[in-house]
Amino acid sequence: MSAKTQAIFVLVFAGILVSPSQPLSRFSSQSFQRGVNGGATCVACTVIVALTEQLSEIYNETAVRAFDRLCNFLPVDYQIYCQTFGSYFVPLIIDSLEKKVTPDVVCHRIGLCYTQAGKPECTIFPPPKGGVKAHVDRIAKRDTKLRYLRADICDLPGVKELCEWIKKIFDQHDPALDADGDYYSIAQTLRGVSWRGKDCDDSNPGIHPGAKPIDSDIYVDSNCNGIYGVDGASGTPYEDLLCGNSSSRGVAILGDSVGAHFHLPEEWFDSSLISVEAFKDLTFILENEIDWPEFSAATGYKNSTYSVTKGPTHSMYHSMWERNRCNHRDYQNIAVNGARSSTMLSSIVTSLARNPSSDTPLLIIYALIGNDVCNGHPDTFAHMTTPEEMRESFTKTLQYLETHVPTGSHIVVNGLVDGRILFNNLHDRIHPIGRFRNDVTYSDFYDYLYCLEVSPCNGWLTSNETVRDKTTERAKLLNSVLKNVSTSYQSQVFDVHYFDFPIEDAIKTWEANGGEAWQLIEPVDGFHTNQYGQALTAQVMWDYLQTNLPDVIGEENPHNSDIQSLFGDQGGYE
Ligand code: CA
Repeated sequence: MSAKTQAIFVLVFAGILVSPSQPLSRFSSQSFQRGVNGGATCVACTVIVALTEQLSEIYNETAVRAFDRLCNFLPVDYQIYCQTFGSYFVPLIIDSLEKKVTPDVVCHRIGLCYTQAGKPECTIFPPPKGGVKAHVDRIAKRDTKLRYLRADICDLPGVKELCEWIKKIFDQHDPALDADGDYYSIAQTLRGVSWRGKDCDDSNPGIHPGAKPIDSDIYVDSNCNGIYGVDGASGTPYEDLLCGNSSSRGVAILGDSVGAHFHLPEEWFDSSLISVEAFKDLTFILENEIDWPEFSAATGYKNSTYSVTKGPTHSMYHSMWERNRCNHRDYQNIAVNGARSSTMLSSIVTSLARNPSSDTPLLIIYALIGNDVCNGHPDTFAHMTTPEEMRESFTKTLQYLETHVPTGSHIVVNGLVDGRILFNNLHDRIHPIGRFRNDVTYSDFYDYLYCLEVSPCNGWLTSNETVRDKTTERAKLLNSVLKNVSTSYQSQVFDVHYFDFPIEDAIKTWEANGGEAWQLIEPVDGFHTNQYGQALTAQVMWDYLQTNLPDVIGEENPHNSDIQSLFGDQGGYE
């Protein structure tokens, strides 16, 4: 078992629960955001103890056996570490569990959760009478063997280098395997095919999705759309015949965790759903940063066959492909968990791959829909992007694109959402970790993350209505800047169009069909759109573009059926 797999187990239950949508800088700096009172480590402890305790109840077995059961749900490579971890972890929690105290009390008792001076006590489950501390003190008096395990999760033996490894994955937006350096890969994960169309020749940088056909692709499929060769009857190259006048273009999103489609399986956090199946693809999931771009609203190209990601795929890329099959494989998902306007400019946009002269134009979706007002800092408002900062970052990003994309490209800008829809639709519903006893609502969950200072968004994920309203106020102010820059920006290379991120229209459509808004939101983080939300926002956006901005998506290719009959699945995607 490698050191890498060791860290992953711990991080699955810890850092990643609270990792999405934080400002990117936390991944670029020396350490993960760890919060206070134990922070992410405390969350990890509480989740592991809660699942262990619930499993022991469900299966009527001891906590030792239940923890073993939890380990056995993981893929084989991860089990040994889980057990090693348990060998010093379980003895510490075992007698607490038998005393029937809540996971918060257990984790405070062993020291992975604590209360710093001047900070409030943090609990996710209903606190015992008199508070956690009094309860822990009572236990401690009786328990002379009490040991404290006050350690940061990334400082645990063997875990440190693994934290570094995970940090690297989350910090790297270029493909890890890319022999010819054209930013297109033949690997699936680590920013490969899940994120960008598959390279059909990874030894030649001139050959990749989106390239202008070289010599009309008579011999070689230089743009990887599966179309090449010459029509025998007319002697015309197929690229000229079927794609020549078709205004081919690719789709790219410059986005955040919603653009990348962050999704943590609820099966990992619900003791009645947890299973071997749920963790089957753990490595794949981590190597894609817990994102699912292949099913996302911007660049989804297939339907999910994963049991932990259910629902239809509908995407801008897929619609562009249906409209013109010459666009096959021409997608790039340049979205990063936690991205905001400043980090997009400083470190993310450079990962966009488009040669202004030898590639075809792009439809770029610029969608940073929350992190400019979202952070986990107690002084929430001081860490929001100001209108001046927004103007500067966004303008400079457009200026960067000016010299990095082909003439004839289009940019569609989505504003920040009104994140109040999250609390409004979820606050009194039960979070997966509390389903067993119906004792944790989203309101509890949000305030718990806030308390530990590891929330992805203090401003909206809070029971404090004034804070939520003020956060929306700032978001609207930033949107007016985005709108203003979009309409006034002059470019010979592209046109820029602003419209609101279509979540509210998607919800209206969903409700008109008998659904409820909460069904479009990720159950674990209560923060992102889920698979249904992704598909619906793509649909609404596509309808909007078709009606209002048809130039942006190009004309329908009359040769689509010929392409299908001649080239079948055009080489597929993987
Ligand atoms: Ca081709």
